[in-house]
Amino acid sequence: MGKNLLVFLIIIVNTVFTLAATAKVENYQPVFLDCSRSDAQAFAVAIRQFQQNGVAMSLVVEANSLKTKIARQQDLSCKQINRESFARTYYSQVLQQAAANKAQMANAGVRRVNREQVALTVDMCPSSKAYESRFYDWAESAKAALGVALTAAWGMRHPSELARLKEMSKTTNDITWINHSYYHRYRAGVANAQNFLLMDGTNIDAEVLGNEVFMIENGIVPSVYFRFPGLISSDGIITKILGWGLIPLGSDAWLAKGEAPKAGSIILIHGNGNEPTGITAFFRHLNQILRFGIGSL
Ligand SMILES: [Zn+2]
Repeated sequence: MGKNLLVFLIIIVNTVFTLAATAKVENYQPVFLDCSRSDAQAFAVAIRQFQQNGVAMSLVVEANSLKTKIARQQDLSCKQINRESFARTYYSQVLQQAAANKAQMANAGVRRVNREQVALTVDMCPSSKAYESRFYDWAESAKAALGVALTAAWGMRHPSELARLKEMSKTTNDITWINHSYYHRYRAGVANAQNFLLMDGTNIDAEVLGNEVFMIENGIVPSVYFRFPGLISSDGIITKILGWGLIPLGSDAWLAKGEAPKAGSIILIHGNGNEPTGITAFFRHLNQILRFGIGSL
C-alpha cells in the first residue's frame, strides 16, 4: 500500500510539473536587458518577459554561445543594457553580420556557420501530409544535431509527431528550435514580393512573437534564430526581427533546389512531407555530409 501511494504521489507530482511547463503564457513582451551574472564574465541578455502560471519569467540569450534558456525573473538580476558593452559581444557581431544583406528579398541573413561541420536545418511548414518519418528515424538513430524550424500551424495539426520531436530533444538529439512563424501563409503562383510574410494583412507580431508563445506553452525553449517562410523577407521586417534580438537564418544548401552541401553549410531540407526531393537528396549526399560532420547551430 505504501509503495502504491508513493507511485501515486510521483504521478501527481509529474502531472503538476507537466502542467506548469505547459501553462498559458500571458503579457508576452520583447525587452532587451543585461542579465549577466555578477560572478561570471558571460554576458546574458533577456529578450522577452512574460507571466506563466502567475510567475514572472524571462527568455534569456547567452551572448557567447547564443544558447537560450527560460528563467524566473526572481532568479535574475537585470539592468538597462550598455550598448557599447553589448557591441563587443559575439551575439552583437552575429546580429550585425545577419543585417549586412537585409535589403535582399531572398535568402537574407546568416547562410553559413564559421567551421568545417555543417548545420542541418529542417523546416516544418504547415502541411496536411505525413511528416518525413524516414528522415527522423535516421536522425534519432544517428543522434544528429538538428535545427527544427517550427510553425505553430504544423504543430497543432500534428501533435503526436511534435511530441516525438520533443522526446528526441530530451533523449537522443541536440535540437535547436528555430522560429518559422505561426501561420506561414503562402499562395501558390503569387510573386514573392506579395507572398509569405510579405502578403497583405500579415501580422508580424502574431507570426513571430505568437509562435514563440506557442513553443513556450508546449514546453519548448525558442532559440535565437528565425527562419523566414520561403526565405523571403523585406528590409522592414528584418529590421523588426533584428530589433527583437532574433538572427535570421538563410541557407547556402537548399538541397531540393540542387544546391550541394559544402563545409560550413547551413543545410535546408523540409521534414513536413512537402518536399520529398530534398530528403532524397539528403540521403544521396549523406556520406559527404558525415565527412564534414554535423554540428549544432
Ligand atoms: Zn517553411
